[in-house]
Amino acid sequence: MGNTEWKTDRTWIEVNIRHLRHNVQELTKAMPPHCKLMAVVKTGAYGHGAAEISSHLNQMGVTAFAAAVIEEGIQLRESGIRGEILILGHTDARRVPQLVRYDLIQTVIDLDYARELNRQGQPLNVHIKIDTGMHRMGIPAEDVSGVREVFAMEHLHVCGMYTHLCCADSRKADDISFTKKQTASFYSLADALKKSGITLPKLHIQSSYGLLNYPELSCDYVRAGIALYGVLSSAQDETKLKLDLQPVLSLKSRIVLIRLVKKGSSIGYGRSFTASRDSRIAILPAGYGDGYPRSLSGRKADVSIRKHRVPVIGRICMDQLAVDITDVPDAAVGDTAVLIGTKEEGATAPETAGEAGSISNELLSRMGARLPIVVTYE
Ligand SMILES: *Cc1c(COP(=O)(O)O)cnc(C)c1O
Repeated sequence: MGNTEWKTDRTWIEVNIRHLRHNVQELTKAMPPHCKLMAVVKTGAYGHGAAEISSHLNQMGVTAFAAAVIEEGIQLRESGIRGEILILGHTDARRVPQLVRYDLIQTVIDLDYARELNRQGQPLNVHIKIDTGMHRMGIPAEDVSGVREVFAMEHLHVCGMYTHLCCADSRKADDISFTKKQTASFYSLADALKKSGITLPKLHIQSSYGLLNYPELSCDYVRAGIALYGVLSSAQDETKLKLDLQPVLSLKSRIVLIRLVKKGSSIGYGRSFTASRDSRIAILPAGYGDGYPRSLSGRKADVSIRKHRVPVIGRICMDQLAVDITDVPDAAVGDTAVLIGTKEEGATAPETAGEAGSISNELLSRMGARLPIVVTYE
């Protein structure tokens, strides 16, 4: 067996680079001409494989990336990724030498932290995070003097300033007005800085939903994560812009065993499922250890085998799950099962995540701890 065949003998993640390219083009078209796409590739590029995805993005001309933690940034550099890499989260100030060595841009998460970074005495590129209402990280937008202090710090080179919207995914009137307050306070801070003689660095506000619902904002970057991977967070989300996004990731597995069970037999842990007829059951070697949520057990989850959607039955185990293939008589050991894919293939990430009580972002980012990633270009 060749290398790639081994990769697809059990359960694997397939990433479609043609879809990735298409999404980059769709997002770029929706952005103002001077605005750049910053690809958010934290958490293994939402389970898609950070190094692989980022190097394809590099080849497509994407030169700005965001990671959550310094390890991810270092890993990108060690995989040869070129361009800017912004660390969105906190990095211990004692690691400034590494930030510098790997040419990473650190987010300033508040004023004391900026002072601490500056005390390290090494020339460090930073983006200042501004808190406009999320109240998670950032210097408050009202604290003009605090922000000015960061610009004046001897060892920090401020090359960007950004904020994060906390309800950009909502089309409710009060959420829209909250979002408008957030953007207004960000721009008024920028104005105040400019009036005081500071040359403004690159500004950014929007993540995926920020672009999809507030495309009129004019910024230097859009930090796109979930939309880049071709899905929305939730299946029922309405957005102002309706881009043609194509899911990049599919989760696939193979039937390793088929069993015949009599009517009345229970299947799996806790005997939570009882066959209501004589049934053919297929065992797939995929479970919550692979990122397929256990909370889908007993819900409406299904997988696609030979283009038929067949229900997941009983409890999902760490490494295995069972599906009822009674209605697909030709299903055989070795058949591919699509657990998550495009609409045409089977259940999508937003549907699956919704059924599990979560969002695509969590579902995808938890995937792939032990799964091989197979790249396709079709
Ligand atoms: C994760 C993250 C993003 C990307 O969000 P998506 O909704 O996936 O596009 C953007 N900005 C910040 C600060 C983030 O933490």
